[in-house]
Amino acid sequence: TLSDRLSGALRDLRGKGRLSDADIDTTAREIRIALLEADVALPVVRSFIARVKERAKGAEVSQALNPAQQVVKIVNEELVGILGGETRRLALAKEPPSVIMLAGLQGSGKTTLAGKLAKFLGGQGHTPLLVACDLQRPNAVNQLQIVGERAGVPTFAPEPGNGVGDPVDVARRGIAYAREKQYDIVIVDTAGRLGVDAELMRQASDIKAAVQPDETLFVVDAMIGQDAVATAEAFRDGVGFSGVVLTKLDGDARGGAALSVREVTGQPILFASNGEKLEDFDVFHPDRMASRILGMGDLLTLIEQAEQVFDHEQSQKAAQKISTGELTLEDFLEQMLAIRKMGPIGNILGMLPGANSAQMKEALAQVDDKQLDKLQAIIRGMTPAERDDPKIINGSRRLRIANGSGVTVSDVNDLVNRFFEARKQMKQMAGQFGFGGAGRSAT
Ligand code: GDP
Ligand code: MG
Repeated sequence: TLSDRLSGALRDLRGKGRLSDADIDTTAREIRIALLEADVALPVVRSFIARVKERAKGAEVSQALNPAQQVVKIVNEELVGILGGETRRLALAKEPPSVIMLAGLQGSGKTTLAGKLAKFLGGQGHTPLLVACDLQRPNAVNQLQIVGERAGVPTFAPEPGNGVGDPVDVARRGIAYAREKQYDIVIVDTAGRLGVDAELMRQASDIKAAVQPDETLFVVDAMIGQDAVATAEAFRDGVGFSGVVLTKLDGDARGGAALSVREVTGQPILFASNGEKLEDFDVFHPDRMASRILGMGDLLTLIEQAEQVFDHEQSQKAAQKISTGELTLEDFLEQMLAIRKMGPIGNILGMLPGANSAQMKEALAQVDDKQLDKLQAIIRGMTPAERDDPKIINGSRRLRIANGSGVTVSDVNDLVNRFFEARKQMKQMAGQFGFGGAGRSAT
C-alpha cells in the first residue's frame, strides 16, 4: 500500500542529519511508485513529485523536525494543496431557487447523494425539492421518491401513466414548481450509463442548458481508480461541471481517484459519501483525504503539535537520551509533562502510525492519565540523585519515597519497574518511527 511504501521511503531517511539530493531522489522514487499503486494518474504523479522535490531541496533544515518528519510534512502539504486547500462551499443563487444538478455514471451514487444533500441542506434551514430526471430506468423515479421520504423532502416526478416523459421537460417543470411552492433549492437527479456514451452526455447537457444550474456536481465512485480520469474528462467536455462529489469512500480505495480528478479537471471536491445511509455524508476535507492517502493516521497532527509544544533544545536532548536508552526519571517526568500539554497520553500514542500493532497496544494499555499523576508525585518525592540513576533506589529509599509522596511501597516498585520497561519501549519506538528529533543515535 501507499502507506507502507511511504513509511519505507521515509524510514530510509532516518539517521540523516540533513536532506541530500540523493536522499530526496530516493524518496521521490518511492513516493512515485506508491502513488501509482494507489491509482493516481501518471501526469498527476509527475507534477506532484516535481513539486515535492523542489520544496524538499529548498527547505531549510527544520529546528523541530527530523528529516523524515520534514518530508512527511512537505508531502502532506502538497497533497492538501492539490486536493483543494480549504473546503469550498456550495455556490447558491442570489434569488432562489438555487439549482444543483447531479451527473455521473450509473451506480456512482447520484440518487443516494440527492437524498444526502437534501437532508444536509434541510438541516441548514433550506427547503429542498428533489426532481426526478432519470427516466431511463423503470425504477429510478421510485428510488428517488423513497430517498426523498427518508430525507423528509418532497420529490417532483412525472405523473405515472403519461408515458415516458422527457427529462428536459421534467427538469423545467420541476424548477417552475419549486418557484411556485417556494422551495429554495432544487436538486436534479439525472440518468447515468454504465460507460460514457454520447446519448447520455447529450441528455445531461440538454438538462443543464435548460435549467442553468448554480452547481453541476460530477458524482464519482472513489473505487473506480484510474478510470476516474477518463470519466471526469468525458463529463467535463460533454457536460461541464463546477464541483465533484466522491462516493463510496467507505470502501478500501486509498483515494487516488480524488487526487487525479481534482488535478485533471481543476474543479474542487465539495462532498464525500461514505456509506449507503443518508447520514454517511460530509463536506470534503482535503486535509483528511491527504492523510487517508498517506495512510499515516494523524501523524501529521502530531508533527504539528510537536512543532508547537516542544522546546527544541530540550526535546533534542531528551530524544537523544530516549534513543540511546539513557533516559533518567527526571527526563521521563519532563517528557511526560511536555507530552501531556498535547492532550491525553492515549491520544498521542494513538496518533502514531502503527498504533494498531500489538506492541503499541500493549504500550497504550500501560499508560493512563491518572497513573501519570501518581507517577509525577512519586518522582517529585525522590532526590535528584535517585531521579538521575534509578538503579540506586533500594528498599529503604523506596519506603522513604512512598511515605513522602503518600503512596505504597508497591506503587514505587511499580513505577521503577515501569520506568525501566518504558525506557526500553521508548527507545524502540524512537527507532521505529524516527521520533528522535534532529539528534540521531547509532541504534
Ligand atoms: P446512481 O445510479 O448514480 O443514482 O447511484 P445510486 O445512488 O443508485 O447508488 C448505487 C448503489 O451504490 C446503491 O446501492 C447505493 O446504496 C450505493 N451507494 C451510494 N453511495 C454509496 C456510498 O457512499 N457508499 C456505499 N457503500 N454505497 C453507496
Ligand atoms: Mg440514480
